[in-house]
Amino acid sequence: MDLFEYQGKQFFKQFGMPVSDGEVAFTVQEAVDAAERLGTPVMVKAQVHTGGRGKAGGVKFAASVEDVQEHASNILGLDINGHIVQRLWIEKASDISEEYYASFTLDRSAKQHLGMLSAEGGVEIETVAAENPDAISKIHVDPAVGLTREAAQAWVDGANLNPVAVEGAVDIAMQLYDAYVQGDADLVEINPLILTPDNRVHVLDAKVTLDSNSIFRHEDYAEFDETQPRDEREEAAHEKGLQYVGLEGSVGVIANGAGLAMSTVDVVNQVGGKPANFLDIGGGANADVMAGALEVINNDPEVKSIFINIFGGITRGEEVANGIIEALNRVDIDAPIVIRLDGTNADEGREILQPALNDKLMMEPTMLDAAKKVVELAKGAVA
Ligand code: GDP
Ligand code: MG
Repeated sequence: MDLFEYQGKQFFKQFGMPVSDGEVAFTVQEAVDAAERLGTPVMVKAQVHTGGRGKAGGVKFAASVEDVQEHASNILGLDINGHIVQRLWIEKASDISEEYYASFTLDRSAKQHLGMLSAEGGVEIETVAAENPDAISKIHVDPAVGLTREAAQAWVDGANLNPVAVEGAVDIAMQLYDAYVQGDADLVEINPLILTPDNRVHVLDAKVTLDSNSIFRHEDYAEFDETQPRDEREEAAHEKGLQYVGLEGSVGVIANGAGLAMSTVDVVNQVGGKPANFLDIGGGANADVMAGALEVINNDPEVKSIFINIFGGITRGEEVANGIIEALNRVDIDAPIVIRLDGTNADEGREILQPALNDKLMMEPTMLDAAKKVVELAKGAVA
């Protein structure tokens, strides 16, 4: 669950971190009213679930209310990396001496939390990591031990910040770690963390991803959940009780079992295709479930071909085959389908499917062959 910047700041504030006052605005008039209440100068900031807003013209300094009016009308409706700006955050402008970077996330391979701190903030951390990796001070924190002040101090010392920023940065490091752990976050990032001319360390941007599975522990997360962007495909699939995750590609994927569905997504990528989704229809593959899955995939305008990858287990091959055939009688499918059927009674299943095969319904003996075929079909359709 990704938070808007202003929600991230609200979240950080609960842990004592210094953030600027501001107000949310949905219209130019609301932006102007907010600026009048806050007092200029203010920043007019696009609220979208993507970074790089500044570069895209979504973050502007406004010295006067007239400036606010101009910037707000330019930024509302702006397309930033495919996200249309519908809300603004009007925030009291800060004076900046230096820009830093601070974050915590999980390092899965180390099985520890990873903190990163850099005196080179305001630019993407990936750029710093590529061009000047020594400028990033890292700390691994054992979740069972937590972050001690001594460890935080050493971490901050390693980043070579301005000496006047060190104490404030250690405070924020401790608060950021608390927010990350107690808040059940997957990522907390401040970029930039600034040093002001009067030597305060202050949070100027907030990128927060919370673990959606922790909502039951945090009453206040319901309001964050409400503003999540909804994927219509996912909503339709979940209504049918299907395990579906929308992706950006053109190959629709249907598989039985989460592991096989993930492998199917992988193999489509491996042979140069782009999956449109992850879809696990579960253990059974009867006509109802199959028809529901095909409907969801067929409604996705990006889908150019469909990969049905079934491994018969308790559900035998002939049941799967009959399910597919009946489902195809019920749903009108636009895109060509490639089936790979294996497992229990696969031969019997394939025999049932054989007479139904044509140039819109194909079958391949292996998962790799089927992946190659379905990707070829998707590419052919685009060309
Ligand atoms: P991002 O581009 O999506 O990361 O948005 P940020 O919130 O990080 O803003 C981008 C840049 O705008 C920052 O790196 C700052 O340089 C600048 N900026 C943001 N807020 C202020 C502010 O209050 N005062 C000044 N002077 N610059 C700001
Ligand atoms: Mg930023």
